[in-house]
Amino acid sequence: MRSPIPDYLDEILDKHRPDRSGANADYIPALASADPEKLAIAISTLDGVEYTSGDSEFAFSIQSMSKPFVYGMALERLGLPAVLDTVGVEPTGEAFNELSLDKASGKPLNPMINAGAIAVHALLGPRGASAAERAEIVRAGLSEFAGRDLRIDASVAESERAGAYRNVAIANMLRSYDIVADDPDEAVNGYIDQCSILVTVADLALMAATLAGGGINPRTGHRVLSPRVNRQVLGVMMTCGMYDVAGDWMTEVGVPAKSGVSGGVFGVLPGQVGIAAYSPRLDGHGSSVRGTRIFRTLSDDMGLHIMEAPEPARSIIRRDRRFVDEDGEMVRICSLQGLIQWSGAENVLRTMDAPESSTTVFILDLRRVYSINDVARRLFTEALARMEGDGVRVMLMDPENLLACAGPDSPLPGLERIDSLRHLKGLKRIRNAVAAPIR
Ligand code: GLU
Repeated sequence: MRSPIPDYLDEILDKHRPDRSGANADYIPALASADPEKLAIAISTLDGVEYTSGDSEFAFSIQSMSKPFVYGMALERLGLPAVLDTVGVEPTGEAFNELSLDKASGKPLNPMINAGAIAVHALLGPRGASAAERAEIVRAGLSEFAGRDLRIDASVAESERAGAYRNVAIANMLRSYDIVADDPDEAVNGYIDQCSILVTVADLALMAATLAGGGINPRTGHRVLSPRVNRQVLGVMMTCGMYDVAGDWMTEVGVPAKSGVSGGVFGVLPGQVGIAAYSPRLDGHGSSVRGTRIFRTLSDDMGLHIMEAPEPARSIIRRDRRFVDEDGEMVRICSLQGLIQWSGAENVLRTMDAPESSTTVFILDLRRVYSINDVARRLFTEALARMEGDGVRVMLMDPENLLACAGPDSPLPGLERIDSLRHLKGLKRIRNAVAAPIR
């Protein structure tokens, strides 16, 4: 069978190719002269598979799409409090190059606008670092997300630098508030190099997939961001990534995303995929016209909107059976399945809680469970401990140690673990003792 996905991507590009509205960014000559007909899309899955269509090997400058990744790098290096002291996380609803600073503190409102991005860039490297030093830190860091060595296009940087009056003004303003502690010119120059790093849509999709995968690059397997920092980056992208159309984007497309004035845009569907599109003509908000439309189509066709409420999970209680063994013990075996998060754990606890004084042995069977998140693990551990406290003999079938009960440091060190029901002699099923239906 030939997968229909590549054909679907070709179709999306064909659908939007005739749209020639918008115009290349004109304030950076290297972007103004880019071929406006270029069109590309890439999707990267969390197991490292890539689907592309169109000019997917064409390299363009990353521009503002660098901002979330560099924000993540700064958070990893300096920690959340230090970065929050420098740049806030509030959407501005204003254009990317607006001088949106908090009136009292002078703090940029978020790291996705230029003011915030320049301030974040200036946090990298040692005090007094040069533009070249910081640019190299960023280049190396972004390469980790892309899984290959990226490079800075010096001609794009020069072209932007020649007319960077506004960004120079922003950096000087930040310096006056002590938000940028070093030479503002070095900060702007380093930031411009950051924006001039070349990527393809395939690179961007993989970088997005790294964020989708909780900070682990699906191709290299390297952890690039910690889960907490990754979450912070996605949260800021979701609320501030699309400048003055963040609300429209969030309601219509519903994927945390970031666009850049080169015409690229990437989106992250947590736990699922990274997506990137490229087409240089921009709308009045500085985002790619065709890129935006491609994302709208993808979101509708593939049901990517993050606020689309998932179908209520099928019961994770596969079976809840009662037996009596040859010694007359009342044995209850509760077999679970699938992925267990808070709501699933609550469901199980409610069942375990059903008044049933007759149970003397309780077996929690996790053999068909493939994942338990942290909160569910803590709820189960607590519930099992309470059951033991109530005098019930508790046994666990957990071959992959999902509850992390093994070892001396476990919260339930004494819990009996069994690998099959063969240990229990002469079990006789009690047919009429059916658990309350679980929804
Ligand atoms: N280098 C560009 C600037 O600072 C990036 C802007 C963008 O991509 O939105 O003006």
